Amino acid sequence: MAEVDFEQYPVQYLKMVGPRRFALLKRLGIRTIKDLLYHFPREYQERTVRLSYACAHGEQVTLQGMVVGVTELNPRSGLWITRVKVQEQVGHFFAVWFNQRYIKKLFTAGSRVQVTGKIERRFGEIQLLVADYELLEDEDPVPQGGIVPIYPLTEQLTQRLMRSLMRLALDEWTPRINDFLPPGVRQKFFLPELSSALRQIHFPATEKEAIRARKRFIFEELFLLQLVLALRRRQITRKLKPHRYHDHMNLVKRFLLGLPFTLTPGQQRAWEEIKADMDAPWPMNRLLQGDVGAGKTVVSTLALLWAVGSGLQGALMVPTEILAEQHHLTLSRSLAPLGIKVGLLSGSLRKKKREQLLSGLASGEIPLVVGTHALIQEEVQFKSLALVVIDEQHRFGVRQRAILQYKGHCPDVLVMTATPIPRTLALTLYGDLEVSTISELPPGRRPVQTYALPFSRLSDVYGLVRREVEKGHQAYVVCPLVEESEKIDVRAAVELMEELSRGPLAGYRLGLLHGRLKPAEKEDVMEAFRTGQIQVLVTTTVVEVGVDVPNATVMVILDADRFGLAQLHQLRGRVGRGKAQSYCVLVSNSSTEEARFRLQAMTSTTDGFALAEKDLQLRGPGEFTGTRQSGLPELKIADLVRDWRALQLARQEAVALIKKDPELKAPEHRPLARELRLRFGGKAGYLDIG
Ligand code: ADP
Ligand code: MG
Repeated sequence: MAEVDFEQYPVQYLKMVGPRRFALLKRLGIRTIKDLLYHFPREYQERTVRLSYACAHGEQVTLQGMVVGVTELNPRSGLWITRVKVQEQVGHFFAVWFNQRYIKKLFTAGSRVQVTGKIERRFGEIQLLVADYELLEDEDPVPQGGIVPIYPLTEQLTQRLMRSLMRLALDEWTPRINDFLPPGVRQKFFLPELSSALRQIHFPATEKEAIRARKRFIFEELFLLQLVLALRRRQITRKLKPHRYHDHMNLVKRFLLGLPFTLTPGQQRAWEEIKADMDAPWPMNRLLQGDVGAGKTVVSTLALLWAVGSGLQGALMVPTEILAEQHHLTLSRSLAPLGIKVGLLSGSLRKKKREQLLSGLASGEIPLVVGTHALIQEEVQFKSLALVVIDEQHRFGVRQRAILQYKGHCPDVLVMTATPIPRTLALTLYGDLEVSTISELPPGRRPVQTYALPFSRLSDVYGLVRREVEKGHQAYVVCPLVEESEKIDVRAAVELMEELSRGPLAGYRLGLLHGRLKPAEKEDVMEAFRTGQIQVLVTTTVVEVGVDVPNATVMVILDADRFGLAQLHQLRGRVGRGKAQSYCVLVSNSSTEEARFRLQAMTSTTDGFALAEKDLQLRGPGEFTGTRQSGLPELKIADLVRDWRALQLARQEAVALIKKDPELKAPEHRPLARELRLRFGGKAGYLDIG
């Protein structure tokens, strides 16, 4: 048995685990001894053993003693009370259970017990309402008193059983477990060695021990994650790309000359960084971040032109069809003067057009294409794909990027986030990317004035809409979001539209946009809004990302509390894109704490990064940017907000280690390479190590 590793050793071979318990453990994701030992306590309870006479009424305590007698009462039908008299060294008390008649059989006179619960002093007697108990025996594997672990459980599993299992597994296995963390790393951060950390996290002798052990596992988790990301970055930059840029058509220069504005310093810097990456012999892997409206699109257009001007191809990948259409339109327009054809690949393309497009891409006749992830999922052939720009990155994961970069070509990749990513999260989600940040908005922008109002003020809200429209501006009204069904969403939007056109916005030119419209219909509506034929656009959240109509100055969001912070910020980002003062009105009647927190956050700042940090606090990383879809494993013990300091240290350490030993080939790094393969397998892209 000594040759079998605890990663592979199935938990049902433990003495106490039969098929039924194995099934229950599986529900907790526990299949092997390693899974079991990595099932960490969610908290601990202090169980210093006290003496009952010294306890006050209402206290939560742990007592020990010898059972001297058991009585059962049945004061009324359906209620059974079991009272066990327990003799302590000094004095005695009664341990009390309700409707657990099997207790009588367990607690026979003469047995020693430990009970935890609430003290009740009544009529000169001391009672303990039992929450948890142990029968103490000499060979008992359960700890007596002290700090007791409390585990996340599933139905039918008890804390008691879990503790016994842990004891058993620890005793049998810890002598044989080797640490995969390099000793140098462990010493540097004062981390306990794996087998003692396992013992200490489950059965700490002191609180300090528990904290030290947790610290090790937090670091371990973040370190392994950062190693994977560092490895990926390394692997990408190790390759040489087949293409070289030389914009002999001078497209970038000509495009810049034609712009009605000059680049902001942030845009300029970002473009220089991107250009330097593109001109390097290995593929670019860069993230371009900047708040909504910071002007990322222009910068990415420069990059695309750099490719096209060099006789190569570029692709722009976006998360939704409506965005693909919009970007296609803006790009075609702004590039028409340069004589550049832009293709659009969308799922709703007719067969013939689709074939034309595909052959144009394969022959190189179409130098630039916009599309959804269909661009990488389907058999799209390019003649010379050199650059891929991914917009709204948070919907594409690390894994999809990996697929893209390993798919024959070795394109440069530029990722853009429209949703600002909290720094801590960026380090994990985009740990494999270089980062450029545009931190200022173009000049002349005024922060959007944001108000949170109840529905009773709706007439004022529509008053504002009318005033702005009278001035020649435009407005959005976003309907309440109905999560469950797009159908209901659509109906709500249609009804709202009718209501508005009969009531508060009668006489104005209204348009309706929702997810059920055909692509061509959507495009017509958007076009009419862009050209000002539609003054007020009633819409569902399809308008959330990327839509750019600078003349719009009012954003009204109904039932704003139903939206997440990131979404609200995106919606607000649809206005304030021109020189005029813009307004965002969040209409809500909700008074829950969470709703208030969110609306308060929105009215107090227009800084997307600040909002992102708040959202991370509120909802945790998984919700915020869809870490779940990112292809990275969920963190089990580390917390990106709480442990951001450890995250940074782990990242530095990982980067340094990969620099020294890029493929983890050194003998002292072998165990680490093995652990990475075990944990990440094919999940986080392609591991190519030791
Ligand atoms: P983002 O994609 O970062 O949200 P966009 O690229 O869509 O922002 O730009 C928002 C608006 O600002 C667009 O209307 C764009 O034409 C305009 N814009 C971009 N850069 C500048 C600049 N340097 N000066 C003035 N306006 C700009
Ligand atoms: Mg954009």
